[in-house]
Amino acid sequence: MQNLTINPQRLWDSLMETAQIGGTAKGGICRLTLTDLDKVVRDWFRGQCEALGCTVTVDQVGNMFAFKPGKRSDIEPIAIGSHLDTQPTGGKFDGVLGVLGGLEVLRTLHDLSYETNAPLMLVNWTNEEGSRFAPAMLGSGVYAGVFDRAFADSREDRQGVRFSDAIDGIGYRGDAAPGSVKFGAMFELHIEQGPILEAERKAIGVVTGVQGMRWYEVELTGREAHTGSTPMHLRANALLGAARVVEHVNRIALEHAPSAVGTVGLVEVTPNSRNVIPGHVFFTVDFRHPDDAVLDVMERKLMEAIPAVSNEIGLEPVAKKVWDSPAVKFDPDCIAAVRTGTERAGMPARDMVSGAGHDAAYIARVAPTTMIFVPCEGGLSHNEAESTTLEECAAGAQVLLNAVLEYDRRFGR
Ligand SMILES: [Zn+2]
Repeated sequence: MQNLTINPQRLWDSLMETAQIGGTAKGGICRLTLTDLDKVVRDWFRGQCEALGCTVTVDQVGNMFAFKPGKRSDIEPIAIGSHLDTQPTGGKFDGVLGVLGGLEVLRTLHDLSYETNAPLMLVNWTNEEGSRFAPAMLGSGVYAGVFDRAFADSREDRQGVRFSDAIDGIGYRGDAAPGSVKFGAMFELHIEQGPILEAERKAIGVVTGVQGMRWYEVELTGREAHTGSTPMHLRANALLGAARVVEHVNRIALEHAPSAVGTVGLVEVTPNSRNVIPGHVFFTVDFRHPDDAVLDVMERKLMEAIPAVSNEIGLEPVAKKVWDSPAVKFDPDCIAAVRTGTERAGMPARDMVSGAGHDAAYIARVAPTTMIFVPCEGGLSHNEAESTTLEECAAGAQVLLNAVLEYDRRFGR
């Protein structure tokens, strides 16, 4: 196989050029989905793809698919995809690197007139961030059949603007039915959004899956009473119960180290007064682990701990699971292609599981999929200071190119 090399400076220039679209004073990007700025970057993206001879199709939720023919027209394309929308105080690389890294792959192949066996398809997924319209990963979710189009259209932003009006407003409602633009596999290049690669001085994360996530809401009801005149043994202090459950959440996560994490991040105490024994506490629990079977065990331990703690103190507990996002295992063949692509590029790498959700997590339900991670400084993301170097971006795009070519070899005749 020919050794093709991407152009690091051209990739970097495109990252910096598009970072001006919604660029913030602190060096980040504020480019919320389906805004006028999103239209500007979408128009730019379409123009760049068409300049390479690609045909751009838009589906009814605004997902953009740039199609580059291959030697064979009888097989589905290999897709490369991520997102161009950002958080309100987003960085320059989250999502954008995956799309522009893919663009750099297409440009490299175009320059050398290199024809892959399978067609290629570069995808910009709508509303990955979920910051203007909840939930996150909406465009890829509709594509994968997780949500329907009517659900997407009905989403409202904080100003009461509906998704349907926003997408019509910028002219990016296409004709293609969601899911009708087929591809046979997808690779997503993304920054890690965590500190592991940087700490271990690895250039590439070979992503084997996305961890499962479960959210719970817990209410403990005790009895409000005077803090001065109520003896300790006659109290039903709901906050004391919550504190003990917080300890259990921490213990449960540590019992499944190093992959498990458990967090109580939101607590509401009623009446929240310094001289009233707390009568009611509401709090959340967030558990994550790459294996659903382990999450089942963690959940069972939590659901045992809550009544046990409540019994000790005399509280009435109510606990319910409010969100369950199953663990995702990426496709072994796609992962193998990334591994080979990484070796061919001579990059130090390690396997890892994504701690955050990505478009690839939904796409994995309908097509063989995997991801490639590159480091970001301090693990910082969803922050204007998000930082990845030219060399790190280039390494990711090179491995992306290598992986796509490796995967494409199976289609040779
Ligand atoms: Zn992202």
